[in-house]
Amino acid sequence: DNSNWNKTAEDLSAEKKLDIIKDNGIVGMGGAAFPTHVKFKPPKPIDTLILNGCECEPYLTGDYRIMLENTKEILHGTRILLNILNIQKAIIAIEDNKKDAYEKLVAENSDNKIEFVLIKTKYPQGAERMLIKKLLNREVPIGGLPLDVGVVVSNVSTVFAVYNAIINGTPLIERIITVSGKNCKKPGNYRVKIGTPIKNIIEHCFGTSESINKGYVIKMGGQMMGINLQNIEAPVIKGTTGIIVFEKTEIEFDKDRKCIKCGRCAEVCPMELYPMQYVLNFQLNTPQEAKKHDVKSCIECGCCEYICSSKIPIVSIVKQEKELC
Ligand code: SF4
Ligand code: SF4
Repeated sequence: DNSNWNKTAEDLSAEKKLDIIKDNGIVGMGGAAFPTHVKFKPPKPIDTLILNGCECEPYLTGDYRIMLENTKEILHGTRILLNILNIQKAIIAIEDNKKDAYEKLVAENSDNKIEFVLIKTKYPQGAERMLIKKLLNREVPIGGLPLDVGVVVSNVSTVFAVYNAIINGTPLIERIITVSGKNCKKPGNYRVKIGTPIKNIIEHCFGTSESINKGYVIKMGGQMMGINLQNIEAPVIKGTTGIIVFEKTEIEFDKDRKCIKCGRCAEVCPMELYPMQYVLNFQLNTPQEAKKHDVKSCIECGCCEYICSSKIPIVSIVKQEKELC
């Protein structure tokens, strides 16, 4: 009986709610897939919950659709999470190109513990550190976490999953993914079961999967931080935010290509780092030196790699250096 479940669920202790979240397999839906029951049991005092309604990356629009189509559920889920954290303040941040979602959330909200902030549409606005700085003017320390500055950041799609688990008893067995890109015949947001072969989705949306591996790059996730998919038989997983297809660039990325010191990577880095230094450390075989240049502050947004004049795969270099530092 669903109505009974509702009543019982609302009265549960925070501990019990976290158990339900754990048992229903809820993880961060923004891509990182961090276990939600761990995130919402922080070992340090928290005063603010930030909900990320900024799309993580260009092309992805799944969070936007959820805010528009499941507005009530997101507001209800936010109240559940405030109750779990036992705090009085949630901020839902939405980019200004999604004003209709912002207005709908504001119109349907009746809880003064929830605030809404419209922020400029600019990648990587959805990164945790950027949001915390922008909304609260707090700096997450190098190598630290949002909880170090009293904040938990979650994604609106995760809130929807929490609502479904607590109120409906529904485990995380499906998610919204954005499908788009070159020659896509049916671009859009699709509700798909976790485990669906990506090949099936590509065949449905692109009409064929035959030639898609030749001359194209298939990204699982977004354009900037998504991973290049090598095998389209791979399944949709909980962190799959999208499937985006691009034409291969004429010049392949190469870790050994020389940096021409143009400085463009440093100009675009949102963390004000010097990405060319990481390239130099890697090519001189001194990756540990990257620590001195705050490599751990890199949020792996991909802006430097996107703009790099020499087409150097800076993000994969950074990932390797982080492991060695
Ligand atoms: S990926 Fe590049 S641009 Fe983004 S934070 Fe790291 S160094 Fe800066
Ligand atoms: S953008 Fe590329 S080539 Fe230019 S300074 Fe940075 S790493 Fe070097």
